[in-house]
Amino acid sequence: MDPRRALPSVDRLLKAEGAAPLLAAFGHEALVEALREVLAEVRAKVQQGEPVPSEAAMLERAATRLARWHTPRPRPVINATGVILHTNLGRAPLSSAALEAIRAASAYSDLEFDLEAGERGERQAAVEELLRRLTGAEAALVVNNNAAAVLLALTTLARGRGVLISRGQLIEIGGGFRIPEVMAQSGARLIEVGTTNRTHLRDYEEPLVRGEDIALILRAHHSNFRMIGFVSEVPLMDLVALGERYGIPVMDDLGSGALLDTAAFGLAHEPMVQESVAAGAAVVCFSGDKLLGGPQAGIMVGKREFLARMRRHPLMRALRPDKLTLAGLSATLIHYLKGEATREIPVWRMIATSPLELEARAREWSARLRADGIPVEVRPTLSTVGGGSLPGETLPSVALVLRPPDPEALMATLRRTHPPIIARVQDDAVWFDVRTVLPDQEADFLQGIRQAWRSALIR
Ligand SMILES: *Cc1c(COP(=O)(O)O)cnc(C)c1O
Repeated sequence: MDPRRALPSVDRLLKAEGAAPLLAAFGHEALVEALREVLAEVRAKVQQGEPVPSEAAMLERAATRLARWHTPRPRPVINATGVILHTNLGRAPLSSAALEAIRAASAYSDLEFDLEAGERGERQAAVEELLRRLTGAEAALVVNNNAAAVLLALTTLARGRGVLISRGQLIEIGGGFRIPEVMAQSGARLIEVGTTNRTHLRDYEEPLVRGEDIALILRAHHSNFRMIGFVSEVPLMDLVALGERYGIPVMDDLGSGALLDTAAFGLAHEPMVQESVAAGAAVVCFSGDKLLGGPQAGIMVGKREFLARMRRHPLMRALRPDKLTLAGLSATLIHYLKGEATREIPVWRMIATSPLELEARAREWSARLRADGIPVEVRPTLSTVGGGSLPGETLPSVALVLRPPDPEALMATLRRTHPPIIARVQDDAVWFDVRTVLPDQEADFLQGIRQAWRSALIR
């Protein structure tokens, strides 16, 4: 007999014992939909020779599906990878003040209303003022993300005209962002200068001397790779001086855009926004959710005349940020203004945490886990900043280490705890870097490890 004939009908499963609580929780329509999908999946598997699962097992799968449909995404996870700005895990975690500002702005707000004048106001006025104060720039403009900032800037300032960029900076930063492709989208014409490893000022000057139609000189941060050896690039200041001689603005795509000096924390110096502004760049752009430590956004600061043109461009309406982003970004920027960034902004707090503090945290957690019979070790490790900044740079950190028989199986179990825990496998062991576990996740983190370890032993 065809084993598929042994499959129950949706009706039969609806009448099964385990169906009642699902009906009560999710309703008839959703349960029927879930059961149909499960049966289709089972039918395909059975066709490939797998046995028919029990009715209880099929209802269980429907329950998992229903629970998933009713869970808002993205879901919170615990980041024990030691990568502070983990792109797959949502980059920067927000400060409590940013979160509170977002919650408050989610109701009615003065988004585009001037309370003093009692009339329509400018939606970015407040955030622009903060950005001007913090960076020393004349003007600022916020869009959806930094890719949008680069697109808007190239479209507005260079559509149909030439843009000079060093061959060493024709970068891809992942997630489909490649400078030459964004350039093509904007309608600007890419004019590559120099070589992959070395570009000199005279390389930039040559097309200018030739009299080519050039609208912009672009500098792009390498972000996620490092060039070493026989290399040279032209400092921003020299590009600005060259641009001034020919009446051409310089744009600096900083990528991460730090407002604090990473060198103060034992890292290499990541280019700072204030430095690019001081060097005279017409437009400096960077992300809101990398080293700035705020919500996803593309931030542009620079000279008034160029930002004004972008603000008026029709694309701006399509790329503008929403009220929640503006609220979260303002609150994040206020931390810098108050000089409390390393205390309040999670990204900077994690960067600033000393190995000694991390050691103490790891010792305390390991003592608690050991008290429950979990043979966890405390080992030195290295965290990274991530998010396309400081490639190859590390921060000395401390990890909890577990050595289960099957590390990948434990990793999979950890991904199923609530909230899921993301760790890393190294030398056949599972490593939890304590630096990136957020303070309010401590209890869930330890509980998740206990649960996962027990189920690893049972199997
Ligand atoms: C990250 C990055 C971008 C893209 O920024 P998003 O905010 O992710 O859109 C653009 N340019 C550089 C140099 C980057 O590092």
